[in-house]
Amino acid sequence: MAHSQELTPEVLAELRERYRAERERRVRLDGTRQYLGADAEFGYYAADPYADEPAEREPVRDRVDVAVVGGGFGGILAGARLRQRGIGSVRVIEKGGDFGGTWYWNRYPGIHCDIESHVYLPLLDETGYVPEWKYAPGEEIRGHAVRIAEKFDLYADALFSTAVTSLTWDDTSEAWIVTTDRGDRFRATYVVTATGTLTELKLPGIPGIEKFEGHTFHTSRWDYAYTGGTPDGGLTGLADKRVGVVGTGATGIQVVPKLAEDAQHLYVFQRTPSTVDVRANRRTTAQDVGADHHGWATERRDNFLRIVSGESTEEDLVADRWTRSAGLLEKLLPSFRRPGDRAAFEAAYEVADAAKMNEVRARVEEIVTDPETADRLKPWYRYACKRPTFSDLYLQAFNRDNVTLVDTADTHGIERMTENGVVVGDTEYELDCLIFATGFSVGVSGIHSGRLPVHGRDGTLLQDAWAARGPRTLHGFTSNGFPNLLQLGGVQSAASVNFTHVLDEHAVHAAALVAAAEAKGALIEPSREAEDAWITTLAEDAPDHEWFHAECTPGYYNGEGRGRPNGPTAYPHGAFAFHALLKQWRAQSMGEVLQTRRTARL
Ligand code: NDP
Repeated sequence: MAHSQELTPEVLAELRERYRAERERRVRLDGTRQYLGADAEFGYYAADPYADEPAEREPVRDRVDVAVVGGGFGGILAGARLRQRGIGSVRVIEKGGDFGGTWYWNRYPGIHCDIESHVYLPLLDETGYVPEWKYAPGEEIRGHAVRIAEKFDLYADALFSTAVTSLTWDDTSEAWIVTTDRGDRFRATYVVTATGTLTELKLPGIPGIEKFEGHTFHTSRWDYAYTGGTPDGGLTGLADKRVGVVGTGATGIQVVPKLAEDAQHLYVFQRTPSTVDVRANRRTTAQDVGADHHGWATERRDNFLRIVSGESTEEDLVADRWTRSAGLLEKLLPSFRRPGDRAAFEAAYEVADAAKMNEVRARVEEIVTDPETADRLKPWYRYACKRPTFSDLYLQAFNRDNVTLVDTADTHGIERMTENGVVVGDTEYELDCLIFATGFSVGVSGIHSGRLPVHGRDGTLLQDAWAARGPRTLHGFTSNGFPNLLQLGGVQSAASVNFTHVLDEHAVHAAALVAAAEAKGALIEPSREAEDAWITTLAEDAPDHEWFHAECTPGYYNGEGRGRPNGPTAYPHGAFAFHALLKQWRAQSMGEVLQTRRTARL
């Protein structure tokens, strides 16, 4: 289909039919059950390849003001914002061997963030750091996480290589009892959970996966001892290896060009092609990004958030493919962009969507020289069905002689694995190494999956409290029956493609709540009525996007094509409006969640 093709009703109907057929090729009856977690016999996939065996230490038995569960950007920002509020003892507990979270675990070759570094890296105004690239490599991002942790003195009391195993509210001391897998048992007046949304890695449940005798690992636990090299490449260990990679999402897109450079032969096992748009990474100067006054980074970040939340702005400071395609994010991220004449809006939206996807498909044709390979790399679904990706290296990798694209759509993924490799259709691909770029249980954090049990007042388990009617929170942060528990980045708030910005706003909010409770000697706990009112607010304007996702190719946005959880899960007017609402609530209504403490603060 030509890029410039006129999008008549007949052409759009043809497209709809093609999208439907491509979806049918991929929907699996087992939906989200097709994946394996890194548990039991597969537990070794989650081991930390970056830290030494942790040194023995005495279990911790004291009391702190705030325990922060998770040392990714959520936890680091919570720590920083608490420090700014003058909170003395803040202890971060982190599974990894250092701060960084997602950026600690993901160090695969080629790793970058595809959100502009000047808006993605938080606290640039506060740290005085100006990134050098429009899109920063992972190591720079991890370095920035460490920079913030150092600046706000979070190392001194942090517990690394330590997983929290339970959180239990103790009514007698009006504090949380925190236990860990290192034998710690200490009290914390407040707990902030910043357990992340990309923490539980997924493996494909390919029949025979355990039989393969070659080397395997997940991209979030890169085995440099095997591949050689660094995140910049130079994977000399692969020079004589036949390497397979499963997965062509945002991770696969970044890792494939590096593997292609160094593997003897690379097989890319694709089930659904990504939309691969222009990235145009480049070096930037402080002058380019207006970093000449305090506040420049906050202004730029707000400008980006406004645009990707569907708000109007006079200028587009970031001016990249996220902001230029922001109008097509309406189905992905609820925002206020919902005009009265819905039918007219949807019709125009479909045309804009088709034009964008034609442009993406035309780009594949322009870059990939073999027409059959180009054909297989073209995505046939609407723009927001899958997370958009950006690369100026990925499609080009398929022009190399040592790279083979293996399409697995007709077999719903790799059919089976043998001792020697993988089987797709009639062909067995013999491999020395198979790398899983198969992602994470997106949005599932330990406190929601039950991996980290949270017992509130009277011993009630958070999961049980939410079992019958779904999550119940005020603003996504606090829940009745779970005093002084502040949940960051979770359900019933508002997400954005720039997740660190969202986390920072949540950290500001959590720190303000803790500071107010400290000042008043109070507990933080919303009433059931406040929770009900919030859920009504979410439901009242909840957009009807279910039909859109029901027609989408399977993925984690639509429960692998089997539908999404019921009930409103996000603030319907977008992240920018949500942050404004929080700010106003803090100024006017924060007192409603501050309850009288029975005990004195110890
Ligand atoms: P994804 O879940 O996005 O992608 C997983 C890939 O594995 C898909 O291509 C999927 O195919 C494929 N797959 C799964 N099972 C099989 C199978 N049995 N056979 C063949 N293929 C299979 O994971 P990612 O790691 O790419 O991304 C995870 C998250 O991290 C996303 O939220 C992403 O946005 C984020 N991320 C962000 C980056 C950034 O720059 N900001 C960079 C990298 C990741 P199918 O599509 O058919 O299901």
